[in-house]
Amino acid sequence: MPFRDECGVFGIIPQAEAHRHTYLGLYALQHRGQEAAGICSRGPEGLTLHKGQGYVADVFTQEVLDRLEGDAAIGHTRYSTTGGNVASAAHPFLIHGRFGQVALCHNGNLTNSEALRQRLIEAGHTFTSPSDSEVILALVNRAEAADLEGAVVEALSQVEGAYSLLILFEKGLIAARDPLGFRPLAIGRMGEAWVFASETCAFDLVGAEYLREVEAGEIVVADAAGLRSRQSRGQVQALPCVFEHVYFSRPDSLVFGRSVMATRRAMGRFLARRHGVPADLVVPVPDSGVHAALGYAEESGLPFDFGLIRNHYVGRTFIEPKQSIRSFGVKVKLNPARELLRDKRVVLVDDSIVRGTTSKKIVQMVRAAGAREVHMRISSPPTTHSCFYGIDTPTREQLIAARQSVAEIARFIEADTLGYLALEDLEQAVEDPLHGRGFCYACFTGVYPVDPGGLRASASCGP
Ligand code: AMP
Repeated sequence: MPFRDECGVFGIIPQAEAHRHTYLGLYALQHRGQEAAGICSRGPEGLTLHKGQGYVADVFTQEVLDRLEGDAAIGHTRYSTTGGNVASAAHPFLIHGRFGQVALCHNGNLTNSEALRQRLIEAGHTFTSPSDSEVILALVNRAEAADLEGAVVEALSQVEGAYSLLILFEKGLIAARDPLGFRPLAIGRMGEAWVFASETCAFDLVGAEYLREVEAGEIVVADAAGLRSRQSRGQVQALPCVFEHVYFSRPDSLVFGRSVMATRRAMGRFLARRHGVPADLVVPVPDSGVHAALGYAEESGLPFDFGLIRNHYVGRTFIEPKQSIRSFGVKVKLNPARELLRDKRVVLVDDSIVRGTTSKKIVQMVRAAGAREVHMRISSPPTTHSCFYGIDTPTREQLIAARQSVAEIARFIEADTLGYLALEDLEQAVEDPLHGRGFCYACFTGVYPVDPGGLRASASCGP
């Protein structure tokens, strides 16, 4: 099964102690990937790379950071699906090729990488990992263009799917987003330095100011001459991933130029309007349900409280790829506040139901803590389809909403009632009518804007 990466990327140029800023940036992006981390920096001797498995804090010691001293750097936090947690697949990837040293890190998932990889292997290329990101570097190195910028344009004209990329080379840094702009990538400014990050929470930590998004299909080059931009392909309608706003991004980030927190509140308000229910208390499933629950409470006039307390030293339950760890994770991660829940009719708000197993355990937990009724409200529509553009969703067979009706899911998770956000309400909450931008809603509709091709077969699911 090819790799699907949910990841965070960060880059900065030119900046003294670029490696330390990148380390901080990765800290802010840790939620986007907890399996591996890496930094490649540019020093007087060329590019230096360090990457490894684990959290940012585990991978980088003081001694390692000292070795990465440089005036430009890129970094990555990585999360992969089952089977993908191998050291060789950590980013950045560094090659010594036609254009000297070139390092790349990637957030997203290519839909045609297997075919490209086969072609490259037949042409004599060898790979060090199963990662689709390495395919991009191979294409860059084999391009006909005379310079790296041209080679990147050429390589990107051959790949399909989702990519937000940072490429570090001896003379500068290139940032690029796929023509539909599935994954986020923002540009910031810090003194003389250009800063790039998946989410603006990384800018806040290093003290950079948000400038703008890298636009869909845009290639931005930052080097000694400053910042310049070109379009990789003809203009197409951007369709960024709505799930970044639903679940994946941090609430304190701007993503696709919009506040994630404000979008989630709006989702909660819509949810309350459509699925109001007599109740005593609105309780979020922390942290993913917090802002939608605030919106729900605001709109319904019901009191809001933290009826579930989260242990912050446990990673996201879902982020661990093994089933055994995941189911154990719920109890480790959440503890009910019995004195708040006892005898209450509780509206429990979460962002999504995927397999339904976590939600069921949480409902049981709230009931066992004394709640009289549990009304589950989900701030997105039923997740009926797998994502092939970089969000880890299981195969269709494992998605409970692909097989069961809302009433059946309510019975399975043992909720008194269950209400999902309507697709049209999600659209209203997230779309910006002024800019007329669309989003990719494939996980809720099965309408895939880029043909998932072979990935669909390998995930053994069809729309
Ligand atoms: P479950 O009830 O087992 O379907 O799990 C639902 C929980 O998984 C919700 O709290 C979501 O916030 C979370 N979730 C949804 N999508 C993802 C994802 N792609 N990665 C990690 N967690 C997710």
